[in-house]
Amino acid sequence: MKVAVFSARAFDRVFLEKCNSSYKHELVFFEERLTEQNVSLAAGFDAVCVFVNDQLNRKVLIELSKNKTRLIALRAAGFNNVDLVTADELGLTVVRVPEYSPYAVAEHTVALIMSLNRKLCRAHSRVREGNFSLEGLMGFELHDCKVGIVGTGRIGRVIAKILNGFGCVLMASDPSPDSECESFGVKYVSFDELCSKSDIITLHCPLIPQTRHLINAEVIRLMKTGVMLINTSRGALVDAKAVIKELKSGKIGYLGMDVYEEEADLFFEDLSNQIIQDDILARLLTFPNVIITGHQAFFTQNALKNITETTLANITNFEEGRKGVNEITAKTVMK
Ligand code: NAD
Repeated sequence: MKVAVFSARAFDRVFLEKCNSSYKHELVFFEERLTEQNVSLAAGFDAVCVFVNDQLNRKVLIELSKNKTRLIALRAAGFNNVDLVTADELGLTVVRVPEYSPYAVAEHTVALIMSLNRKLCRAHSRVREGNFSLEGLMGFELHDCKVGIVGTGRIGRVIAKILNGFGCVLMASDPSPDSECESFGVKYVSFDELCSKSDIITLHCPLIPQTRHLINAEVIRLMKTGVMLINTSRGALVDAKAVIKELKSGKIGYLGMDVYEEEADLFFEDLSNQIIQDDILARLLTFPNVIITGHQAFFTQNALKNITETTLANITNFEEGRKGVNEITAKTVMK
């Protein structure tokens, strides 16, 4: 199939071109993300292959449909950037990579927890400058620490296993509790109870209308003073303004985030020669107890290989009429 690949970085090209030698699709790479302004680039392509910050709102989907695109192949698990209701209405098929490596995201999540707790970034900068003082670097032990996992799907389950190894006391909230997690002692509680009892809260639920700003001023009020909040799921799960207020007050003791609600115009770009115009992100970057990474939790060799392989197989399945495999529709999400 003729496929327009958007948000294509050098590493995407390397992995896709290598893997495509056995699929033989006609891939055309565009470095820019797909938006309302450049959707005409996709004219004449049967499929668009997109990533997390490509814009697939109603306007873009209508244009794609007019231009005879029939397939949207996501190189990601999350699909919050696609207006699925409009896609269904227009008869556009949307496929994704539901599981490529839950270990990649889970391990990065634990890296954020450990780096914040043991203040590794500050320690590293200090030692490089010849400052070997331990002042301000004291951490706490994860053993016996109460950790609340919001969403124990593929990624949350792996985190539960890793943190179980650390000897943490694990709580979770999820409308569909996982029996494997329960088997090694994860206790399912309400979201409010999880917030009020956890020393560390880590988010692994999808971004859907019901979970937008799940972490807001009201919920933060329930939390323990000094709580550690980790978000490697989707930025809009967290009301960043409310978090800034409580970082300033000390209610939130640590923040680790790999995703940010307004990341689309920032992440994946080298903006080091520019002035960051986003005042919320700029303020977050000033706190010594905040670590931000630019949506890299997925970024391992294993994950990229799996994403590439599944994406190209998804396109071939569609081309050869095998519908349903890794397909996502508004109806399947409502279930
Ligand atoms: P998954 O679908 O396997 O699991 C999500 C879990 O969340 C499910 O068990 C579901 O029941 C639960 N859930 C739904 N609504 C909830 C709510 N209101 N409260 C608590 N739990 C709720 O998804 P996954 O593969 O584990 O991925 C989780 C999220 O991680 C994805 O939605 C995606 O946004 C994000 N993600 C981020 C990266 C990254 O690089 N940072 C990479 C991959 C995925």
